[in-house]
Amino acid sequence: NGKKNKKNSIQFYSQSMKDASHHIIIIEQELRQAIKNNEFELYLQPIIDIKTNCINKAEALIRWNHPVKGLINPDDFIPVAERSGLIIAIGEWVISRSCQIAKEISELGFNIKISMNLSPSQVADDSLFSYLSACIYDNEINPCLLELEVTEDVLVDDYSVAEKLLSKARTIGMSVSVDDFGTGYSSLSYLKKLPLDYLKIDRTFIKEIVADDNDKAIVRAVIAMAHNLNLCVTAEGVETQEQLSFLVDNACNSVQGYMFSRPINVDYFIKLLNEQSL
Ligand code: C2E
Ligand code: MG
Ligand code: MG
Ligand code: MG
Repeated sequence: NGKKNKKNSIQFYSQSMKDASHHIIIIEQELRQAIKNNEFELYLQPIIDIKTNCINKAEALIRWNHPVKGLINPDDFIPVAERSGLIIAIGEWVISRSCQIAKEISELGFNIKISMNLSPSQVADDSLFSYLSACIYDNEINPCLLELEVTEDVLVDDYSVAEKLLSKARTIGMSVSVDDFGTGYSSLSYLKKLPLDYLKIDRTFIKEIVADDNDKAIVRAVIAMAHNLNLCVTAEGVETQEQLSFLVDNACNSVQGYMFSRPINVDYFIKLLNEQSL
């Protein structure tokens, strides 16, 4: 009868909630181990300058080599790390490893920027800048080889905190980009106030750009606006020649996507750089 079903459905619901929170607790414990055991790896995805058709930057994207579950993508653990506070330790590892990579690549004679993603709580962390400066100093790299990616939400959540960090970073020569541009719930007012260098147009706008006139209009408008604000534009998620042609025709500055390369390990990235310079 109805009453019984209702009771069962409530039990079922609370059981699935229990499972979900249990799942998160397990990931959290495993993440603590992963930090201790150094189970993370940074992959690099090439970013190509449209004018020169050469790689001039790479985005650092974290991967977790889980001892049992294998390679885990960031969308499956970064949100847990963010909520549990573990993102601070993981983020510090990302910064330190990115600086090592920037050093290795520059010592090979390449002029390639490494771009890192920052989570909201990292941006809010008072010690982030001194940690970053120490890594730059230890690795003896030029800060202009580093870039910080923040999402619109970060810029709006705590505007003055973000402003402080980003202007300090830019003062020493780093660049700053707005990631996933167009997907946040923010007004555009931060664009005139914040120190920025790049807008990265989210791949949801690029996906249907060949068929969808609205996406075409949005991407054209974003590029025009960015250029008027003296910002450069990177398109994310470029997978086809047709998408690339549209972006070239509309003066987009750089592109990133599976058409050129998936995120790859550092050795393979260096191989690509060597092939490119032949
Ligand atoms: P994101 O910063 O927007 O990074 C771009 C994502 O799009 C990457 O996914 C990349 O593999 C994927 N992508 C690039 N080109 C294409 C394409 O042509 N087609 C498709 N379908 N996808 C493409 P990934 O590596 O799984 O990272 C997902 C998100 O996880 C990142 O989005 C970023 O928000 C976060 N993340 C990654 N590494 C870190 C990190 O070190 N720290 C923090 N805080 N977040 C990170
Ligand atoms: Mg990013
Ligand atoms: Mg993005
Ligand atoms: Mg994203």
